[in-house]
Amino acid sequence: QDSPRVVGRFAPSPSGPLHFGSLVAAIGSYCLARQSGGSWLVRIEDLDAPRVVAGAADHILQTLEACGLEWDGPVLYQSRRTDRYQAALDRLQQSGLLFACGCSRKEVLASAPHVGEEGPVYAGVCRAGLPEGRRPRSLRIRVPQEQVCFVDGVFGAREQRLESVVGDFVLRRADGLFAYQLAVVVDDAESGVNQVVRGADLLASTPRQIFLQSCLGYSPPEYIHLPLALASDGEKISKRHGAAAIATAEGRAQALWRALRFLGQAVPEDLQRASASEVVAWGVKHFALQQVPTGSQVADG
Ligand code: GLU
Repeated sequence: QDSPRVVGRFAPSPSGPLHFGSLVAAIGSYCLARQSGGSWLVRIEDLDAPRVVAGAADHILQTLEACGLEWDGPVLYQSRRTDRYQAALDRLQQSGLLFACGCSRKEVLASAPHVGEEGPVYAGVCRAGLPEGRRPRSLRIRVPQEQVCFVDGVFGAREQRLESVVGDFVLRRADGLFAYQLAVVVDDAESGVNQVVRGADLLASTPRQIFLQSCLGYSPPEYIHLPLALASDGEKISKRHGAAAIATAEGRAQALWRALRFLGQAVPEDLQRASASEVVAWGVKHFALQQVPTGSQVADG
């Protein structure tokens, strides 16, 4: 039986120029989609307007093009898709899964039974109805008391109990913005994405997304999380860490080469001096998922 054609994607947030950490996600998702003859989509995650940096989306797209990472179809911009997120929210509302929450951030923190790596666990204060004198702020979804399980292509079998790690989570924020968790699920499903390759910082979000997929009747994609590139101070590499290197053709080829090495791939030394498109072509041909390590590594410089 033939497996369906892979539809992969890269979904950068335009909060700054493309940096090494996002290049790792870009090349990893690109190689995995293309090596099976699949398609590769690009989506700009510009939903969180206050964090969007003017010009960053164009800069990211130009860098991808200059790296020879060519995408299929039009680029999707989350900021233009709010009606789709509203429609999904309406469907969830109709199934009786949502409730209005009147808690501020401070109150959520103060009442949390536990603060974990995903932040404070929601204590359920407004679950059974808004307490007296509260006005609705955000919309949350009730989570079931069940384990969400999935098998990640790199990290293996994972499980999470939503109620103990996050609790009922926010789908529409107090400022009216749709939550990333909802947008990513709607976008991937409506674009036909069936292979999600991204940074391991999102491993702990995946159970929330799988739960939302089940509520909305979408089938879950394959998940492949890649190790995180850390700055030498131990933090996840972010926009403030050197993006300057990818400004030149030489720098881009080198960065792609380093990204493949970072992903455990045996890319030959002499390809370091090749062109970006040659490095990418090597990756598409030889990328081996089983070589990808799970540990985060320091990768700045
Ligand atoms: N926009 C997210 C980021 O730049 C990635 C989201 C995803 O791949 O699901 O970290």
